[in-house]
Amino acid sequence: MSESNTSRRRFIKFAMLGAASAPIVGGLALQPASANLPALPEDDATAKALGYHEDSTKVDAAKYPNHKNDQNCLNCNLHQPPQADGRLPCAIFPGKSVNAKGWCAAWVKKA
Ligand code: SF4
Repeated sequence: MSESNTSRRRFIKFAMLGAASAPIVGGLALQPASANLPALPEDDATAKALGYHEDSTKVDAAKYPNHKNDQNCLNCNLHQPPQADGRLPCAIFPGKSVNAKGWCAAWVKKA
C-alpha cells in the first residue's frame, strides 16, 4: 500500500468521524442554557438563619432593624441573571432560586 493511499484513508476516516459527530455537537448547542433551579424554601436551615423571606415587605422588622422594604433580591448584588421562570439564582443559596421580591440578611446593594 502506498503512502498516498494510507493518507487518503486516514483523511476519509477523520472526515467521516467529523460528519458523524456534527449532529451531536449541533444538538448540544440547541440545549437550553440550564433548567430552572427549584425555589428556596423559607424553612431551609440556611434560609432561616439568614431570615430569607419570599416577600421583602414581610420581613420581621424587629429581628432585622436594618432591613428596608425597598431592599429585595432583584436589587441585591448577589443574584445571578434571572431564570426563564423569573426567579433568581443566588450566590448565597447554590442550587436554589430566590424570588425577585425576596430578601435575606446577606442583602448587598447592587453595584
Ligand atoms: S443574598 Fe441577595 S439575592 Fe440572595 S437571597 Fe439574599 S437578598 Fe436575595
